[in-house]
Amino acid sequence: MDQTHVEGDLDLDQTLYTEEQIVGRLQEMAAEIQQDYEGKDLLLVGVLKGAVMVMADLARSLDRHVEMDWMAVSSYGSGTKSSGVVRILKDLDTDLNGRHVLIVEDIIDTGLTLSWLITNLRSRGPASVEIATLLRKPEAQQMEVEVKYVGFDIPNAFVVGYGLDYNEHYRNLRCIGTLSPHVYS
Ligand code: 5GP
Repeated sequence: MDQTHVEGDLDLDQTLYTEEQIVGRLQEMAAEIQQDYEGKDLLLVGVLKGAVMVMADLARSLDRHVEMDWMAVSSYGSGTKSSGVVRILKDLDTDLNGRHVLIVEDIIDTGLTLSWLITNLRSRGPASVEIATLLRKPEAQQMEVEVKYVGFDIPNAFVVGYGLDYNEHYRNLRCIGTLSPHVYS
């Protein structure tokens, strides 16, 4: 669904990025990634469920072979606050030994999930582990782990669409919008 299908939705505040802006930025990121990984094999690791759309468009923007694998971790409950607890719900099928791994994320907020994930994946003997995220919130900029590819730095609001949900809704919205504060405050 697109903007027209959520017109009058009082839970949504405003559109942050249109589908065109998102896909355009992912193409730029893909070009950078392609250059950096020239001559190397590349394994994209998507973090379910939010990164499904980012993975689909980023991977298809790469004019080369890549492998894709998925992990599911829980860091948020059904609300909008990070629980700080990370649990593996679904692990990778791929052996990371000697592999160049690029974690594909939808959004980094506190960075808690990612710090944990990086440590976990690095312990599996990969040749390298880097991060690509479509969105990054202000707090994440103070993170110790370097995020190599960032789509957009966004303000501190709760966003939905393009894979990102609020109680499992809005994942199939083509654009990214902010949730109205009255929904979660
Ligand atoms: P962190 O551990 O960085 O605080 O949170 C990372 C995870 O929290 C993301 O992968 C995402 O699932 C969820 N999250 C953080 N901020 C938002 C947001 O603004 N909107 C949505 N829908 N999920 C978010």
